[in-house]
Amino acid sequence: MSLPSHVYDPLRIASALSPALFSLGDPDLLVELLNSNPAGVVMVEADPDLPVVYCNDSFQRWAPLGDRPILGRSMLELFVWADRSAVRSTYRTVIQTGVPIHRRSVPYRLRPQDHEADGYWSASHYPLRGPNGRVTHVLSISVDVTNQTVGQARLQETQQRTLSALARIARHLTTAGQAPSFFNELSATIADLVSAERVAFWLYDPEDETISAQLGHFGFTVDELQLASRLPCRPGGTDPLERVVFDDLIVVRDSDVAVPWKAGDHRLGALGAYNSTRSSGFTDEDVRALQAAATAAALVWEHRQADDALAEMRERETTSLRRQIEQSIELEHLKTDFLKLASHELRGPLSVVRGYISMMEDGTLGPVGQSVAPVLPLLRAKLDEMNQLINEIVETARLEDSALELQLNRLDLRDVVQAALHALVPLPGAGHHLVTCVADPPVTVVGDGSRLRMIVTNLVHNAIKYSPKGGEVGVTCDMEDGLARIAVTDHGVGIAAEDRDRLFTRFGRIVTRETAGLPGTGLGLYLARDLARRHGGDVTVQSEPGLGSTFTLSLPLPPS
Ligand code: ADP
Repeated sequence: MSLPSHVYDPLRIASALSPALFSLGDPDLLVELLNSNPAGVVMVEADPDLPVVYCNDSFQRWAPLGDRPILGRSMLELFVWADRSAVRSTYRTVIQTGVPIHRRSVPYRLRPQDHEADGYWSASHYPLRGPNGRVTHVLSISVDVTNQTVGQARLQETQQRTLSALARIARHLTTAGQAPSFFNELSATIADLVSAERVAFWLYDPEDETISAQLGHFGFTVDELQLASRLPCRPGGTDPLERVVFDDLIVVRDSDVAVPWKAGDHRLGALGAYNSTRSSGFTDEDVRALQAAATAAALVWEHRQADDALAEMRERETTSLRRQIEQSIELEHLKTDFLKLASHELRGPLSVVRGYISMMEDGTLGPVGQSVAPVLPLLRAKLDEMNQLINEIVETARLEDSALELQLNRLDLRDVVQAALHALVPLPGAGHHLVTCVADPPVTVVGDGSRLRMIVTNLVHNAIKYSPKGGEVGVTCDMEDGLARIAVTDHGVGIAAEDRDRLFTRFGRIVTRETAGLPGTGLGLYLARDLARRHGGDVTVQSEPGLGSTFTLSLPLPPS
């Protein structure tokens, strides 16, 4: 280590010393300075045996020869148990090179029987030259630096302990479990760290302004802790514990130490260590380690609190989600029950009306008046529409009961289109006209005729219903890409892209300004797609809002 230049500036030193140079040249003064110096001063001759020609009182006191005379003896002899070769080589180097040697904090054993160094010395060895310039003597000045060295070592040890305290406590960040066991483990770690018989965390409760030792403790009995529960604790209080909590006081007594336990400005309480297991009691280092431990423990505690709050929030969310799911399952059951009930209750009255219309149509009820005859086809169409509606409801209920079975036959899809359209002919208003375009060769599929008709009826019915301003409704039936297809195109309200998936869900209706007044159940497309998929096919949609839509039923062609 080099000295700072302002200290070791030779010119400055010379000018500072110049007023005293005359007195300093006085040999008596020099002898006096050396003799009375608290540093050990010894001078040896530049001879292989290194005989001592001078030593001062301090050196005599430290040298391990007691009161026996030192002068005239070899320097090497004085420190028999020391590293003699190191001593010899140091002196030889100074003598040969003429350059001083400085050694700092060299470990040193005071007694030959000691195995470990119990002292540390810093020594400087200066060459002294004779008139011919050759080194004739070496002057050594040594200082006992044991205290500084030990102090430094202790500081390092404290830092080490503090770091290990932080590391050990940080491990509790990941420990799960209830608060008492958490505090218990943390207290045990801290007790071990500061060599305490007992350790307790005191948690401050701002609600009722009390402080209580936590159930998770180390070394206390439960009875003792019960006594230390809900003690009054207020800002401005004079009790030592109150002052630890609110004024950052550190209490250090023979048998106990208490330090604040806080995370930033959040005052959690206090951390106390009681009864040192060392006879010397708690040291300053223990207090520092306890402070570090309290800081780390506060962070760990805050972290746990945040974790617990998060877990509680998640639990609450999960419970509410579970409840919502249960409710929607219950609602689904209610809907299914309603579907069954509605279809059952509607069928009876409807078959009565149907009977009467048939009788009016075939004249069983006598001749029909001129004003009634033209509306009979419309009545029939509306009746079929209602019938279709009830069929949809019945089918949906069946579908949910898994009671739906397809009656599969080879059939021409063109016939299905014709049958569906036939039933719907009276429905379109003046503004609509149906345009059908079916392929020439038969479009043969294996399917359930009445279910396929139901799908087509629904698609055409929707095309009419959702083009309230009228327009052309086109129905095509052909084969393409190995599929049989029926496409129904309208120029109606169309469907926004984001709504398209919802069309096919149960009760999925899209109500816009244009469609608000139109009746419907939201079951038709749900059923259509489901039935199509049971045939190995699908119902898909293409649409432009405001321009119209095309719904396509596609079915696999049977192997020829
Ligand atoms: P709904 O009984 O309501 O007609 P559907 O399942 O047949 O039930 O149809 C579901 C929804 O899809 C309808 O409410 C409507 O918003 C929309 N939709 C069906 N077909 C068309 C179409 N051709 N044009 C525009 N929207 C349609």
